[in-house]
Amino acid sequence: MPSTPAAAARQILIRLQEVMAARNSAQAKLNKVVEIIGESLSSEVCSIYLVREGVLELFATRGLKQEAVHVTRMAMGEGLVGLIATNVETLNLDEAASHPDFSYRPETGEELFHSFAGVPIVRRERALGVLCVQHADPRKYEEVEIEALQTVAMVMSELIANAELADDGPTDQRVTDTGTTMLHGLQLVMGMARGHVVFHQPRVHIEHTVAEDTEAERQRVVSAFTKMREQIDRMTGAAEFGMEGEHQEVLETYKMFAYDEGWTRRINEAIDSGLTAEAAIERVQQHTRMRMRKIDDPLLSDRMHDLEDLANRLLRIVSGQLGTAAQMGLRQDAILIARNLGPAELLEYDRRRLKGVILEEGSLTAHVTIVARAMGVPVLGRVRDIRHLVNEGDLVLMDVGTNSVLIRPTADMEEAFETRLHVTQKRRAEFVAMRDLPSVTADGQRVELMVNAGLREDAQALDLVGADGIGLFRTEFQFLVSATLPQREKQQRLYKDVLDAAGDRPVIFRTVDIGGDKALPYMQRDDDEHEDNPAMGWRALRLALDRDALMKVQARALLEASAGKILHVMFPMVSEPWEYEAARALVEHQREWLHAQKKKLPIAVRYGAMLEVPALAEVLDILLPKLDFLSIGTNDLTQFLFAADRAHPKLAERYDWLSIAILRFLDRVVRTCHDYKVPVGVCGEMGGRTLEAMALIGLGVRRLSITPASVGPVKAMIRAIDAEELRTVMRGLLDGGVIDIRGRLTQWAVERNIELS
Ligand code: PEP
Ligand code: MG
Repeated sequence: MPSTPAAAARQILIRLQEVMAARNSAQAKLNKVVEIIGESLSSEVCSIYLVREGVLELFATRGLKQEAVHVTRMAMGEGLVGLIATNVETLNLDEAASHPDFSYRPETGEELFHSFAGVPIVRRERALGVLCVQHADPRKYEEVEIEALQTVAMVMSELIANAELADDGPTDQRVTDTGTTMLHGLQLVMGMARGHVVFHQPRVHIEHTVAEDTEAERQRVVSAFTKMREQIDRMTGAAEFGMEGEHQEVLETYKMFAYDEGWTRRINEAIDSGLTAEAAIERVQQHTRMRMRKIDDPLLSDRMHDLEDLANRLLRIVSGQLGTAAQMGLRQDAILIARNLGPAELLEYDRRRLKGVILEEGSLTAHVTIVARAMGVPVLGRVRDIRHLVNEGDLVLMDVGTNSVLIRPTADMEEAFETRLHVTQKRRAEFVAMRDLPSVTADGQRVELMVNAGLREDAQALDLVGADGIGLFRTEFQFLVSATLPQREKQQRLYKDVLDAAGDRPVIFRTVDIGGDKALPYMQRDDDEHEDNPAMGWRALRLALDRDALMKVQARALLEASAGKILHVMFPMVSEPWEYEAARALVEHQREWLHAQKKKLPIAVRYGAMLEVPALAEVLDILLPKLDFLSIGTNDLTQFLFAADRAHPKLAERYDWLSIAILRFLDRVVRTCHDYKVPVGVCGEMGGRTLEAMALIGLGVRRLSITPASVGPVKAMIRAIDAEELRTVMRGLLDGGVIDIRGRLTQWAVERNIELS
């Protein structure tokens, strides 16, 4: 076996090419293929299993008993072969029988063989079958051999699909259902839109996988790369957002991938192994997909989408096949449907025609979400299977606020949607008109209304909605969208821009809440221990105090950015007072150091803690005297109070924020803060819901930090209520006599004509 993967695969491909070109049956070709691979890898056994009618069937073998061919069948997920096909992953074992999934099939005579390696035969991201080798000696197959197998599997997928030997997954057939369907998803960018379905991406079909002239294929890739890089440079250069923002960092990262030499090198190596340019790009992409699938990290999978986006673009260029819907002229009212999108792909669309985007995947921190938010295009994510449930041109009504999309609505539904849209627009106009009116209750009590933010462009919302400041600036967002750890200068620039946009309104910066499920790919952990409960794990302040270099850099960035102003800083997930004290001391130390360096400093620093961990409520008498303010994070607090994962869809509606347990808990905290004369606010999502905000005001909360879209509705409610009367109502409800607090408060509001939108 030659020592480089490319040479090894190339040797096999040359022999395979003859087999493929021969004029005999597909079965005869498969029989020959297993012989060639077995010989080339000096493997006693080589077998091919194909998925037929949903089951993996042994189609050809060298080394196992021939009687087993077309007899041995395994369900998907059954045995090692089933595992490879289901997970679309490679296995390489020196002792197959000791793997927990090993399933012995006596008819094959495989008990003689110990080592086992198998690779999936993939087409359109699904396994068509499995190619595996076995050996009598217990030995692990070498990387060269595995790579050769993967390349061969790539070529085989063409043979198998052309001969229609295996199930080929869902086709591009039209959806036959023409009825109305409602689907649900995840809110990514808020908004409502009516429009017609446009599929983002026609499929690129790879027609030939084995190259005739390797040098020519290399040239094709070189010119495709040049063309693709030109496109990316053009698109990113032309993107106009009117303001600096995270999307620029996102695009920089994206560009970095486009220019990644490692990627080019891997594609060239695949070409050296005998593949065509198209097959080489796909082969490398399959490899990356397999690797990424093993990493259970939402951030890395976001990066994966960037890579998919670029690989698809490269494939389209190299194969000269159709572009995305963006290049084909978009219809007037397009709702774009895609599995996922890369940020640059989205930028290619005409913003005036693009009304909304619906994705089968997607996440809040994904690059495409950030760019869409900057473009002002509503996005609904995680809508399962939508690509297979709609046809191009179908009418859809999307309402991100209700997490829903209505496909092929009836005329009545369309009318109701238009009315809702109209009401929403009218209400929005009313809120805009209310923008400069004070946030004061009917009986003259002032309630500070601040906004939650995390991106540079969020600061614009302050003026748009007329908020009193930023009550929670989630500094980790910058870390989450960057490919590398943001340097101090970069952090400082962001903080300064946000402070400048806020003018004399306060901005409360929360130090990074990373770790746990918000893992940063570029940050090494001390251990690779998997966390069963990342929300309760090594995150936020816990991590920051252990890794204090990160916190020191951030403290300096915050102090320097606030020179000549008041810096408000708060710490997340404080569980015990000493943590707060240690964090504060760390910032103070940085302040002293900067002072010694004769740097310009903030005129004052105000320190706060977030109350998200219930235990902290029991030690407020110790903590409050040391604090300038307290901010209650009801998102985490309720998940810990009820022991209910805040991200679990089945638990999302189960526990009510207006339950007696939460209200009593909050009441106690708010009253203790009043006793100690420490300002207290709520910065979780609870405060952004009108009825919940009303309850909080009834408990005495006078500062809410909420999502910008809620400022209008909440302010309208505040201006309509009598806070004193509400306080008495809430006191009564805390007694526990009323079970349905939500119902009672709604009734109270309705009787007083208070709008609860
Ligand atoms: C909270 O937990 O309520 C909060 C505001 O913080 P985050 O949502 O960022 O965890
Ligand atoms: Mg929190």
